[in-house]
Amino acid sequence: MRLSERVYWVGSGKDGSELSHPRDCNVFLVDGGSEAVLIDAGSGLGHEAIVANIAATGIPLSKVKRVLLTHIHGDHAAGAYDFYERYGMEIAASAEAAPWLAAGDMEKTSLRAAQRAGVYPLDFRFPACPVAIELQEDDWVTVGDLKLRVVDTPGHSRGHISLVLEEEGARSLFSGDTLFAGGRIYIQNSWDCSIQDYAASIAKLQDLQLDRLYPGHGACLLSRASDHVARAQGCFERLDIPPNL
Ligand SMILES: [Zn+2]
Repeated sequence: MRLSERVYWVGSGKDGSELSHPRDCNVFLVDGGSEAVLIDAGSGLGHEAIVANIAATGIPLSKVKRVLLTHIHGDHAAGAYDFYERYGMEIAASAEAAPWLAAGDMEKTSLRAAQRAGVYPLDFRFPACPVAIELQEDDWVTVGDLKLRVVDTPGHSRGHISLVLEEEGARSLFSGDTLFAGGRIYIQNSWDCSIQDYAASIAKLQDLQLDRLYPGHGACLLSRASDHVARAQGCFERLDIPPNL
């Protein structure tokens, strides 16, 4: 599904538009002309559907060189290994989270806790995956004639990053699980979630003056995204907590 000249929606689950598997996060394809990248990988359960959706864009899979992971929870990162192993894509993650994915650390990825909570079945597979590129705050990722800027956005999880894209005169953000339409956030009772970090990350997004939001779940915003950031920011300023996803 084409969202802009350069951005396609190729995966999503029960909170999105059911483009792939119910457990998948939103997965986006960014076309830089000579090459393309995926933003997040999904859970792995919808791998074939995501591949079919990429093919339907007309962009050959051989042009998709990398997967940029916003964070390494199962619904965003368990699918990374298939793209690495079957298509030779390079996997990029934050420098903090990269070792946890490379080691397949079920505690750090919070998968064990999510399985105990019944969020994932006990036979859910989250393969360890080599990380070729470790990303830090203010790094630039070149994708053909486009550049994506890395912004650290911890809160929902440790080692969470978002990616800024300037396109068509608009400032867009791939926000992972940091912010959703309506100013919703995603707090969980997990080791890596921090409300104070979350508030600081939302304040940072407020400063970005965003036009478009491509979040990890739910609807995408193609204009006035900053209004939605302001709703979350307003809650934090009142020492309240924004509504959860
Ligand atoms: Zn998450």
